[in-house]
Amino acid sequence: MKNKTTIVKIVAVALAVVMMAIAGYMFREHRTYKEPVVVSEYITEVKKLSDYSDVIKGTVNDCNVYIFDSGVPGGTILIWGRSHPEEPVGVMACSLIVENLKVTQGRVFVIDSMNTSASTNTRVGEAYPRFFTYDCGWGAMKWRFGDRAGNQLDSWPDPEVYIHYPSGQNLANVDVRNINRTWPGKANGLLTERTNYAAMQMIKQEGIDLAIDLHEAELEYSVENTIVFHQRGDVVGSMVSMDLTADPFDVAITCNYSPEALHGLSHREIGDWSDCVPYTFEVAEPMLDRIRGITDEALLMEGKDRFVMLAGDHKPLYSPIDESGWPIEKRVARHITTILKTIEWNNMINPDQTIQVEGIPSYQELCQSLAPYYYTPATAPADRVYYD
Ligand SMILES: [Zn+2]
Repeated sequence: MKNKTTIVKIVAVALAVVMMAIAGYMFREHRTYKEPVVVSEYITEVKKLSDYSDVIKGTVNDCNVYIFDSGVPGGTILIWGRSHPEEPVGVMACSLIVENLKVTQGRVFVIDSMNTSASTNTRVGEAYPRFFTYDCGWGAMKWRFGDRAGNQLDSWPDPEVYIHYPSGQNLANVDVRNINRTWPGKANGLLTERTNYAAMQMIKQEGIDLAIDLHEAELEYSVENTIVFHQRGDVVGSMVSMDLTADPFDVAITCNYSPEALHGLSHREIGDWSDCVPYTFEVAEPMLDRIRGITDEALLMEGKDRFVMLAGDHKPLYSPIDESGWPIEKRVARHITTILKTIEWNNMINPDQTIQVEGIPSYQELCQSLAPYYYTPATAPADRVYYD
């Protein structure tokens, strides 16, 4: 009897060790994966965010800054993805832009991954996939799937109460790792606050005129399929909303003012603390809904979910959804088209900030497939392959 108990204990310990080893391997693979980007032949420079402030030098959040300088005087725009790494369209749209863009007037800055630390995180207990992929024919583009807040391996400990700097507003303590609650940042703060601080230094030093922060949202959330703008962006933002709602969007893109008393968000703080005018774009991502079914890569990429559809039938949603879902192509197409339209309307309203771009596919082309616009790093010249 005693022998039998000992055998059971040994087997249990051995099983636990095997499971720990598998989990450890999977965690490490997720954390250390590098995402290749084949930059456009028209790129002029790739900097690091720490070139603007050394407060993030040597950290996981010292991201690449992809710069397209036409050499022709005009405006400057900054576009970034992955404020929230569980919203994949941001990094996918930015990568696609970086791989295809040509700028003929003004300058374009792109950051694919603003909070890389959060992309190494996951939401415990929600069965999030570790990665997501897009089949491109030559193979698949593969990105890390993450969470809203930075990884505690990079930022520890959280304060009991997060007091936003410099407003003094109290926020949930976990939001000290949420990069869209820590603008305009703090030079001696925690990692996300320091990342925002470095990004603000870049915006000021480079004289950036427009800033676009790409997001996605659950259909249960009211700030959905919309442009949120700082009050200095109301004319451009409203014109973009009306223009795209008329054509080519099948679902309207609305617009909202950034609330003046809600602090830490890019659309508030960048506008309040610099001359730059910030915008945030949102698009529907059914996987973020609480009432979703199986949480897998298919739901993430196809945006089809019968439980979310059922909720739509009973009207508690802020976005329509039917059998066709919200496929990733349409979500990327909406964000990229909204960026181009914002540049176009800003050119008309602020001609001294004119930016002219080429090489970006149309809304219809992107809705068909994203595959033709991502390039294989295997055959690309080595000096055009970068890793985020
Ligand atoms: Zn978001």
